[in-house]
Amino acid sequence: MMETLLVATQNRDKAREIAQVLGDLPVRVVTLADVAPDLDIAETGATFMENARLKAQAAARATGLTALADDSGLAVDALGSEPGVHSKRFAPTDAARNAKILEALRDVPDDRRAARFHCAVVIANPDGVLAEIEETVEGVIIRAPRGENGFGYDPIFQPLGETRTTAEMTTAEKNAISHRGKAFRKAAAWLRARWG
Ligand code: IMP
Repeated sequence: MMETLLVATQNRDKAREIAQVLGDLPVRVVTLADVAPDLDIAETGATFMENARLKAQAAARATGLTALADDSGLAVDALGSEPGVHSKRFAPTDAARNAKILEALRDVPDDRRAARFHCAVVIANPDGVLAEIEETVEGVIIRAPRGENGFGYDPIFQPLGETRTTAEMTTAEKNAISHRGKAFRKAAAWLRARWG
């Protein structure tokens, strides 16, 4: 019997991303938009993992399916790990969010501009949590936005050992090193071991 995996997001791009990583697995991927369009899950956790757990468990309980949820964001050392779980709402637009961080770090020297993207992934069924994965990509906040690709904080984030921001990389290049790429590949390996 083909297993069904609910990717607990209203965002079809994320669902497509995980479906791609799952590749050859005999799994039918559905999203909240397909099976529970009105489910509104409050992201009240203090950590990425708590939020991923809240979303995966709520989605699994509401539908009876195995659910995968992710939560991600940027942690800047010089800002006490903010914006963190507030990454999405730190300011009204992507440009405003990036400007706010650059302004806050205006007088911070190059050697204290470390930051990292986090991605927490939780897989749960209605009985409880099955797997928890967290991955990061380390980098620095540069001094002015660069690049048109990606989204969110990509134009101000340069991974360690790179000369380009993640907004100057192709999607494939970014996925190879990114927090979300690494976490989704681990989740795919977990699912493959269980359902492959
Ligand atoms: P969520 O995972 O949909 O909750 O997204 C959290 C927020 O973190 C996004 O709206 C972005 O602002 C930020 N974020 C997460 N991952 C990335 C990334 O890969 N690049 C840039 N910003 C990101």
